[in-house]
Amino acid sequence: MIQINEHYQKLAASYLFVDIAKSIRAHQEAHPEQDIIKLGIGDVTRPLPAATLEALHTAIDEMASPDTFRGYGPEQGYDFLREAIAREDFQSRGVAISPDDVFVSDGSKCDTGNIQELFSPDLRVAVPDPVYPVYVDTNVMAGRTGVFENGRYQGLTYLAGTKENGFVPPPPKEEVDLIYLCFPNNPTGATATREQLAAYVEYARKHQALILFDAAYVSFIRDPDLPHSIFEIPGAETCAVEFRSFSKTAGFTGLRCAYTVIPPTVQAWTSNGTPVAVRDLWARRQTTKFNGASYPIQRAAGAIYTPRGTEEVRSLTDYYLENARIIRQGLDQAGFNSYGGKNAPYVWVDAQRPSWELFHLLLEKAGVVTTPGAGFGAAGEGYIRISAFNDREKVERAMERIQAALK
Ligand SMILES: *Cc1c(COP(=O)(O)O)cnc(C)c1O
Repeated sequence: MIQINEHYQKLAASYLFVDIAKSIRAHQEAHPEQDIIKLGIGDVTRPLPAATLEALHTAIDEMASPDTFRGYGPEQGYDFLREAIAREDFQSRGVAISPDDVFVSDGSKCDTGNIQELFSPDLRVAVPDPVYPVYVDTNVMAGRTGVFENGRYQGLTYLAGTKENGFVPPPPKEEVDLIYLCFPNNPTGATATREQLAAYVEYARKHQALILFDAAYVSFIRDPDLPHSIFEIPGAETCAVEFRSFSKTAGFTGLRCAYTVIPPTVQAWTSNGTPVAVRDLWARRQTTKFNGASYPIQRAAGAIYTPRGTEEVRSLTDYYLENARIIRQGLDQAGFNSYGGKNAPYVWVDAQRPSWELFHLLLEKAGVVTTPGAGFGAAGEGYIRISAFNDREKVERAMERIQAALK
């Protein structure tokens, strides 16, 4: 008899986007004349930067000629891309990351989901709340939690982001082994200072724990004092792994390219206390289960690091950040307190009522779709997330409608 992995049965069905879609459909049927503006989903809407498209076309043409055709590439990624990443994203900021520490992949969702399999099944895990669900669900699947009860899994440590801590929770009081962090944050748009990250690095070193740092939104940082990488914090080179993605940075959600950074000094231990380099484990995992991101896509990602590509990515992220500013200003005029949206493409809004209530109110009165914060975890109750990933004109119209509706 083929038996299933019963930990899958513990997964709490995520009805969030299904319920949202259902509400939209019902509203559309009742008001067929109204066009609905969707500021709910965390996907980009603007086309790819021209420099990446040009590189993509050139690479595809290379595949058409026997002299320049390429088959399987190196599992860890092509040198041209790993060298550009190490130089431009790290060394240029004084961080000693080498191309050997960079593992190119087809997405941060898989990287942040896969990494946990390098570690023991009975680790103690801490996750942010509200949270990007991948961190939680992959640990549920691996059997590191109990059952789902009252909005939380037993056995997980939840680090609650609240108004009081500015949505940057401090390290846990109890001892944990694996800690997920995401800054700039999805869904709250919060960013962490050097001091706040340093507290986590100190915690990790003290407890021989590992930090998994998701920096998918790093290219939205404009405040020069904010760290871009966990590796800007001294000591992190022994206790952290960083994930970055071209998805939100350069509009690659449909192209697929990301990378993971693991310095050789990052250690984990065997049950009898022998240290092992996490980079070697990940190299082994990737060369066994992954055959590399496609050549044309890696060429497209490489083009981001040319002067023209850098400039185009900057104006693309500036565009979304201006949307975020318009959203914050619109909400302020409508009488809401909101957070984030300054170094991140998400605005986190104090709903002044249950999440779903404000969601329905904005849908019914203004025809604007948002995301109820409760869908991201217990600590998200009482908030909604508004995404700045949309076209300017729609964002402006959405804010006008919200203001008119709530007068
Ligand atoms: C969008 C997003 C990613 C990127 O995922 P990809 O698989 O690279 O598209 C990673 N982490 C968070 C928190 C995200 O919101």
